[in-house]
Amino acid sequence: MPTQARGWGTDAADQPLKPIDFERRDLRPTDVAIKITYAGICHSDLHTARNDWHGTKYPVIPGHEIVGRVTDVGPEVTKHKVGDVVAVGCMVDSCMECDQCTEGWEVFCRQGCTQTYNSPDRHTGEMTKGGYSDHIVVRDHFVCKVPAGMDEARVAPLLCAGITTYSPLHQYKVGKGSKVAVIGLGGLGHMGVKIAAALGAHVTMITTTPEKGEDARKLGAHDVIVSTDPEQMKAAATRFDFILNTIPVSHEIDGYLNLLGRSGRMVIVGALNPMPGFTGAQLIFWNRAVGGSAIGGIPETQEMLDFCAANDVYPECETIAMNEVNDAYERLLKNDVRYRFVIDMSRGL
Ligand code: NAP
Ligand code: ZN
Repeated sequence: MPTQARGWGTDAADQPLKPIDFERRDLRPTDVAIKITYAGICHSDLHTARNDWHGTKYPVIPGHEIVGRVTDVGPEVTKHKVGDVVAVGCMVDSCMECDQCTEGWEVFCRQGCTQTYNSPDRHTGEMTKGGYSDHIVVRDHFVCKVPAGMDEARVAPLLCAGITTYSPLHQYKVGKGSKVAVIGLGGLGHMGVKIAAALGAHVTMITTTPEKGEDARKLGAHDVIVSTDPEQMKAAATRFDFILNTIPVSHEIDGYLNLLGRSGRMVIVGALNPMPGFTGAQLIFWNRAVGGSAIGGIPETQEMLDFCAANDVYPECETIAMNEVNDAYERLLKNDVRYRFVIDMSRGL
């Protein structure tokens, strides 16, 4: 039997989020049912709620940084059992047969992975509904284990902000001796700083907000550059091996490319919209590269959780009640979050 669920979502781009009652599907043989305890608020949730990417199907219930407890499992589930503390990120299903899925890159499933919200279910075509809700039903492979001893209240943001920054740092072998810069001290950026520092890199925070400089150092940055100060940007030319760019909107990149040293790489994870052009010479001289990165696969997500548990890496969370979400969205837009909102699902649902 499908179960009755309560979530928070919106009917239109210009409407606030409000309580919405809906049904979660009956368990398929490989499904896990999870009572959600915490859900992080990613800027992507806001982009989707406001239809910034023009693909939102309403009503939408966002949320793809999910932590909770297993309440039921389908007969074929072996990976999880009732009572386990588990986590779900941006994906809930994929074909599991193509080269991408079998190599652990479900995010690039040839048939398209099913995202946690605003994505058609592979079997029914019904739009998925995310983690701003009391419970969720997810295919077992897409449910990660929260390592024993981790503080459940602070894990949720790792499932998107954590993996989206860990994955490129890991792919490009950032480690001891790497000179890394992270652009944008928000939800993703602050995890980028923490993870890069935990990997042993020398980390510089590049921010538009001078007041965040002190925080950046507390989070693990060794140096800070205020990007609106041309002198500081000029002085940092060719300084970095790797730049993680988390700016959430379209922006000029020439000034940032100029900070890369020989064979340096900038990975863009924030801006999904069309970007203005850049100068070829900024890539050609100094052999620079620019690329992108989308979250990470499920095995890498589990690896990231284990890494964060082993190295005591946690997001900085401002915990709110579910009914405070609209205010949180406004503050996110005003760049007023230090550094990730996490909804405590036991309050205000
Ligand atoms: P966030 O918390 O709002 O942080 C973004 C930060 O970027 C801000 O705190 C600000 O930092 C800086 N910033 C904002 N506007 C800027 C501008 N116009 N110019 C320069 N810097 C600016 O957002 P988030 O949750 O970290 O998400 C960042 C982006 O990543 C979003 O677009 C989100 O959709 C995307 N995302 C992508 C993936 C993926 O798979 N690639 C996954 C998750 C999220 P300062 O004050 O320090 O300048
Ligand atoms: Zn996200």
